[in-house]
Amino acid sequence: MEVLDLIRPIFVKLTPYSSARDEYSGKEGVFLDANENPFSSVTGESFNRYPDPYQWACKEKLAKIKGVKPEQIFLGNGSDEAIDHLIRITCTPKEDNILILPPTYGMYKVCADIQEVGIQEAPLTEDFEIDPDTVFDSINTATKIIWICSPNNPSGNSLDREAILQIVKAFPHKMVVVDEAYVDFSSEPSFIQELDKYPNLVVIQTFSKAWGMAGLRIGTAYAHPEIIKILNKVKYPYNLNQLTQAKLLESLDKEEQKNTYVKEILALRDQLEESLKPLAEKIFPSQSNMLLVRFKDAKALFHYLLGQKVIIRDRTSVILCKDCLRITIGTAEENKILLEKIEEFYKK
Ligand SMILES: *Cc1c(COP(=O)(O)O)cnc(C)c1O
Repeated sequence: MEVLDLIRPIFVKLTPYSSARDEYSGKEGVFLDANENPFSSVTGESFNRYPDPYQWACKEKLAKIKGVKPEQIFLGNGSDEAIDHLIRITCTPKEDNILILPPTYGMYKVCADIQEVGIQEAPLTEDFEIDPDTVFDSINTATKIIWICSPNNPSGNSLDREAILQIVKAFPHKMVVVDEAYVDFSSEPSFIQELDKYPNLVVIQTFSKAWGMAGLRIGTAYAHPEIIKILNKVKYPYNLNQLTQAKLLESLDKEEQKNTYVKEILALRDQLEESLKPLAEKIFPSQSNMLLVRFKDAKALFHYLLGQKVIIRDRTSVILCKDCLRITIGTAEENKILLEKIEEFYKK
């Protein structure tokens, strides 16, 4: 199989926008090519030059941390950008479809809907595991991407590694995307290390969760260099601005801080889980920074908390999540307030 067989021919042929600085990569020079302001920015900071469209400095640093080549990395304005582009480059509108495994992250369906791409669903089991038979039965010739979210949002668990690999191997002509937004919190290894073996595999990660940079909007896709080249053709030329690239570079020197946050959040998660036990009907096992919890009178509890300005996520109408609320792990103080308010609700 050729990896470009996964891609719609129009994108293989597409000539992308050629930015002014594509012809010259040096830092020094007299730059009279991009119609920029030669002095400075009106704010006094130096934002007057266009940023690197391929973010090479960031990718070189990130590549070392992740054990991949810079050419295997796509950086986007949040991982949502990667999700959108991946659907665009593989699925012809009104013809093709993607397979999702609900309950799962909502953006896969939204991006498909926006592009008039169909959705096939292969629900997880009652305990939020992959059912390979359901997956195999739900795939048809028009299915171009299989989306697997692990650890899964909203259930929080990591999906069975062998089942995922079985799917990747069984469908070499379809793209399998493993969304690892929560991988930093998981004891399971990343699928990034499998990329060299499976050209149809794409791994998505984000700086929004463990790294604490949701406000900057930085998501990543790791894939075969040929797929990354196509993503680079369809993205906006300057999709990560100069400030964001600078902050990303800075953050990549601080992986230890991320690891410290992760440890602290995991300890707080275990505490919160213990404290919730007497109040909940069921707490689902989590490998992430959230807990999916089944409560008695869940909907009323959700609204009571909202009235008390404690905001959690109502998942009660999501498939397999009857009476379930999703709780993000907060600080010790925030978790304490949450627990007090839940206790208050059940005493009434
Ligand atoms: C939070 C989340 C993301 C991250 O999206 P960004 O656009 O990078 O902030 C991606 N996938 C899943 C499953 C998530 O829960």
